[in-house]
Amino acid sequence: MAYGIALDLGTSGYRAHLVDLNRNAKIVSTAITMRHPLPGANVMDHLHFWISNGSEIGHRIIRQTVDRLLTLLEVDFGDVERVSVCGNPIQLSLFENIEVRDLAYAGENKLKALGVIRPSRRGHVVTAGDIGLTSLRSETEIIIPPAIRHEIGADALAMIMKSGMLERKETCMVTDYGTNAEMGLYHDGELYSGSAAAGPAMEGQSIEAGMLAAPQAISDLNLCEDGKWGNVVLDEYLNPTLTAKVDPLTGETQRLVGLKARGITGTGVVSAIALGLETGFIALPNISTPSHHLKLVDGIKFLEKDVREAGKAMGAIRAGHRTLIHEVGIRDEDVKVMYMAGASGTYVDPIKAQTCGMVPRVLDRIYQLGNTSLMMAHDLIKDPESLDHMQEVADSIAANHIMFATNKTFEQMFILEIAYWLEGMSEEMYNEMIVMQDLPPLPKLHRPYEVLRMVERDIPDVGEKGLKTLNEVGVTMNANFPGCIGCRKCEKSCPERALKVHTDSESGGFRIVIETDKCLGTACKNCEMVCPQKVYDFHNLKVDEIV
Ligand code: SF4
Ligand code: SF4
Repeated sequence: MAYGIALDLGTSGYRAHLVDLNRNAKIVSTAITMRHPLPGANVMDHLHFWISNGSEIGHRIIRQTVDRLLTLLEVDFGDVERVSVCGNPIQLSLFENIEVRDLAYAGENKLKALGVIRPSRRGHVVTAGDIGLTSLRSETEIIIPPAIRHEIGADALAMIMKSGMLERKETCMVTDYGTNAEMGLYHDGELYSGSAAAGPAMEGQSIEAGMLAAPQAISDLNLCEDGKWGNVVLDEYLNPTLTAKVDPLTGETQRLVGLKARGITGTGVVSAIALGLETGFIALPNISTPSHHLKLVDGIKFLEKDVREAGKAMGAIRAGHRTLIHEVGIRDEDVKVMYMAGASGTYVDPIKAQTCGMVPRVLDRIYQLGNTSLMMAHDLIKDPESLDHMQEVADSIAANHIMFATNKTFEQMFILEIAYWLEGMSEEMYNEMIVMQDLPPLPKLHRPYEVLRMVERDIPDVGEKGLKTLNEVGVTMNANFPGCIGCRKCEKSCPERALKVHTDSESGGFRIVIETDKCLGTACKNCEMVCPQKVYDFHNLKVDEIV
């Protein structure tokens, strides 16, 4: 028996395939985590936790999660010959436990002052022993694919190679819709990339009734002829099922099947915003119903604050796309093809996503690609020699990375997006203001001629042994804050229900306990802000001993 393991280290979770090397790298089984083990809603939060708590703690949490995940693949690890991984530069660097501060700080002077030496991020091979994984034999080879440049990672290379965009003559864009929307624009033989911090709304987090794409999540909403909204809910195998037609104003429900919903996921959020805008129930930034919310199936409510959370993400993505287009010196109309990658990019309705500004306004064609990172890790397992080819492609791409955090165009566009999504600025006013800043106005909406979904699921093949989910990821952090009165305001303010206040029987005081995988980290810190005694200090939370 000879097996390989392909591993995608994503920002919202890890995914692994067990692959039979004697059967042409056929996928045997798949295991996923529903969350990332480190606290945080995006890679910058993960980095922040890593830097402020020390790499030793962060790396132990990651190793432990990978070991537990691989165990779900149910293989004799003595038969595993090699492992390949893919992910963005931050996730791969955290996995390898190499220098990450060059990805955390933009300025060269700051890096010099800190004495940071940028590590090589070319394709290479390490061993399980080097990483410290205990599930695998220590000599098992782990193939690490190349980054295009230090900040444009293997995940971007995967999107580009698996989309086939380099063979196209037309100008194309590609985006992986995650908490960090990685995006690329390919024009005239050059790749321009950027990464917009979209936040967790696109994954269903930070939304009042939000949840990840799991059974009983509302994944889509469709307008019916009678004006009701068809509520599509994921069943236990994650198949979208039209469950009920609901009047979003009154909640009047026509039940179609018994499947109950318990929340709404990112693709459902996009549908709610698109339908709300098209039907007039949403007049940004408000919901114009008497209750100021939209009624969905099983009493689930979509609130005005959800419109704002999602709007921030949509605005960041549109500002990112248009910044790339502008910096390259082309017009919105010049982009002909859009590739949508990642789970959200595969499952979201692309037309609704276009209504919400998440894909360019003028396009000929949209392709939905699936999880290209996991696909590329699978390619590497199948043919380890392809690492050299990947390096050649990475070297051949004349890449330009635009740091949105320090880019003036992005700043100007994002401010206007915020005014549009959060303050109710009209499109006319948006266009007037943007033209005054010598930037191009939004073009008229032009629907694509063709939408091609290349795969049925973001992970198209889970193998004959099926899919297993690791629910237990991450660890707990705790603190006893002197002066804490146990009012539980921090617990009540936590949008992810990650925090609990316990009575500490030893000291008679109170102990704050946070589950790291659920916590949104430095992007949130609601718990700290609401503390009436001002004793809560997020940075004084200590990670519990990992067993
Ligand atoms: S409120 Fe605190 S514990 Fe809860 S998600 Fe936000 S930062 Fe994490
Ligand atoms: S909000 Fe402050 S005082 Fe209240 S339980 Fe939390 S830490 Fe203690």
